[in-house]
Amino acid sequence: MLHSMGSPGESEGHPVNGSTTAGSIFKIIRDHGPLYGNDIVRRTGLAKSTVSAYLERLVSVGLVREEIPEGGKRRKLKVAESAGYVVGVALGQTHLEVALCDLEAEIIETVGGEVDLVRETPETVLTRVVEYAHELERRAGLGPSSLFGIGLGLPSPVDYTRRMPVTPPVMPGWDRFPVASFLANEFTCPVFVDNDVNVMALAERDKGAATEIASDSDCFLLVKAGTGIGAGIVINGEIYRGAKGAAGDIGHIGIDGDDTLCRCGNIGCLEAVAGGRALAYRAEAAARSDRSPFLAEALGKGIPISPELLARGAASGDEECLRLIISAGKYIGDTLAKLVNFFNPSFIVINGRLANLGERFIASIRESVYRRSTPLATADLVIKKSSLLERAGTTGAAILVLDEVFSHRNVGRLMRRFAG
Ligand SMILES: [Zn+2]
Repeated sequence: MLHSMGSPGESEGHPVNGSTTAGSIFKIIRDHGPLYGNDIVRRTGLAKSTVSAYLERLVSVGLVREEIPEGGKRRKLKVAESAGYVVGVALGQTHLEVALCDLEAEIIETVGGEVDLVRETPETVLTRVVEYAHELERRAGLGPSSLFGIGLGLPSPVDYTRRMPVTPPVMPGWDRFPVASFLANEFTCPVFVDNDVNVMALAERDKGAATEIASDSDCFLLVKAGTGIGAGIVINGEIYRGAKGAAGDIGHIGIDGDDTLCRCGNIGCLEAVAGGRALAYRAEAAARSDRSPFLAEALGKGIPISPELLARGAASGDEECLRLIISAGKYIGDTLAKLVNFFNPSFIVINGRLANLGERFIASIRESVYRRSTPLATADLVIKKSSLLERAGTTGAAILVLDEVFSHRNVGRLMRRFAG
């Protein structure tokens, strides 16, 4: 394909690990840049002249730019972060957040508002997504073709190939609703849809825990603990979605010996025992039974029960708040221990509203995992709270787009578009 634009000596079809040459070089710069030309030559194993020719092309079409590091003389190459933009959308059950991001998935600006996914139709909610995205385009003064793509994270299982939610348990009106084609009618760029937990895992891979933990961290779990509990599974840097896109639905793994009824119809599911709703229910019971003076006082003042409130209670010395936090952590940790034995991740990062239960919650998860997993699997295992928190949804949705748009095969096409 690159021949048509007078490409360097080698054809685009020449494979580097089964990919296109331009795409491979661009991916290396995306993943590891800023890099010196020599580093890129070393990482591709291609001839220096070939790499130089492609780099010149990537720079001339504006996808890559040169940068001289402070105090240095030689140029480094990095993604031209302002060559285009992507929109990342995080859709929760009660909140919608839309972010305009650059080509390194850095958030430039966001717009958000309340939604009710159970009651509102997909058309109503997605129309608001369109309005917010246009609003961001307007504010940034973007032209009609500045957007490279739109990514959405949905709180539902998603058929990734067909880009639509499937059998969502809490939002029945969304079952098989053609989310991507609805949005594609309003924009000229491609639209990608995935489960919110997978999207958050991408954010941890490129912008969060994986970049903070100095280890070989290509295999990890992102756990979103909120009303529901789910896990994003990253294997060798890629999201693992499973045969039908249902991988990581750990909220419905059974807790041995528990018979709490779950909204899925089963009994003893992790989220029915340790999810946000279960925790709020127990906290309210504790407030009414005088086991917790702190919660009783909050209830009296009409303050709603929240993870943040429980964390404050525990910090102020309320034993019942602390007990509730530790018990939720223990249930989640016991389940994660089984996954650790099975999957041997290099780290587990915790996000979602329950992460706001604080360090005692994370410590309780850690203790259960260490107690119940094999020593080899926990030897260097790190379990930590996400540092991205609310940003993970929109950032991850932007990365979803960038991964697709800048896949090996697409970079050649993009180069043509830019050159044309
Ligand atoms: Zn269940």
